[in-house]
Amino acid sequence: MISLLEEHERTLAFAEVALGQIKSLRQSAIPRNYEIWYVYATGYNIELNKVINETLQHNGRLTEADLEQIHETYLSPTRMTDRIDKVGSRVINEIDDVMSLITDAVGMTGSFSEDLDSASKRLVKAKDKAQINLIVHALLQSTREMSLTNKALEARLATSRLEIASLQDSLEAIRTESLTDPLTSLGNRKYFDRALESAVEHASHHDEPLSLLMVDIDHFKSFNDNYGHLTGDQVLRLVALALKANIKGQDLTARYGGEEFVVILPNTSMRQALAVADNIRRAVMSKQLKKKSTGEILGRVTISAGVSTFRPGDDAPALIDRADACLYAAKRHGRNRVICEADPEFTPNVRIQVA
Ligand code: GH3
Ligand code: MG
Ligand code: MG
Repeated sequence: MISLLEEHERTLAFAEVALGQIKSLRQSAIPRNYEIWYVYATGYNIELNKVINETLQHNGRLTEADLEQIHETYLSPTRMTDRIDKVGSRVINEIDDVMSLITDAVGMTGSFSEDLDSASKRLVKAKDKAQINLIVHALLQSTREMSLTNKALEARLATSRLEIASLQDSLEAIRTESLTDPLTSLGNRKYFDRALESAVEHASHHDEPLSLLMVDIDHFKSFNDNYGHLTGDQVLRLVALALKANIKGQDLTARYGGEEFVVILPNTSMRQALAVADNIRRAVMSKQLKKKSTGEILGRVTISAGVSTFRPGDDAPALIDRADACLYAAKRHGRNRVICEADPEFTPNVRIQVA
């Protein structure tokens, strides 16, 4: 019960900060602004806080348009599909415009070449200087028109190039977002699945070692139950930071789901992977957790980890399966430990075959 009460106090504290901001910046207390400032107060959305701080620093205030833009970019639940739709229709419009431009240009070139043909025929038949003058005059006229059309075409293509570059940026931002876990800013499951597929392919083609870590927070459910989900979320961020801090180079980490994380270690033997996993385990364990609002000490969290290493013939699921079996051996043998598939505690998962 105490934890629910604390959770209640904590959310009220965020609410007070949010209302305080709305008052001091003289903004309307509409749900959109309240949501923005509530999230700002929690500090969970790093990007949102960054853009607000920067805007306030540069302009001293947030306009209606700023708030609308911030909400749409960082909070609107449908923002991903909305943005995909918007970019999609911009791509279609751009293609339509360029296609009609090309059709016009082809038409112009055709009629210019007809003009040239007819001028050359008339020149052959021309009898005097006056007739030649008329033909040359007409030729100059159509050349001038052609040159104007070319200039307009060039200008339009330059604009189109800018639009396409901006579309590429938007698509890249959407792609990154679709592969990122918003809570921890690590790669998400989709990102991991793709990365592991290509790491396995690389390892098998180049005969290089490859190791995989699966990491799971110990007794996280009771941590959440005792201190609330928001504090639990902070712990997920803390573990994400420890993972990032203990990998380098080509190594790659992602949130596998819930309170489970993965690390892909290309070109890394089992012994080296064990060392990385143990560094991560010690880094997490060394952090004393303190409640920001009250300074209350919450203790420490620990993690368990399983390590598998690529064997010829392995596919990605086989590697995951063995790392997972190691992880559960680590849990069975007391948690806060790392087990690899060479350890005697490791017993392979029974693989279920669906007929
Ligand atoms: P074990 O040591 O065996 O791993 O025990 P556990 O309690 O960590 O494992 P269990 O699978 O029973 O519980 C996992 C908990 O993780 C349940 C859920 O409340 C919590 N969790 C999963 N995703 C999130 C999240 O995004 N935020 C928070 N705060 N908690 C989460
Ligand atoms: Mg778990
Ligand atoms: Mg767990």
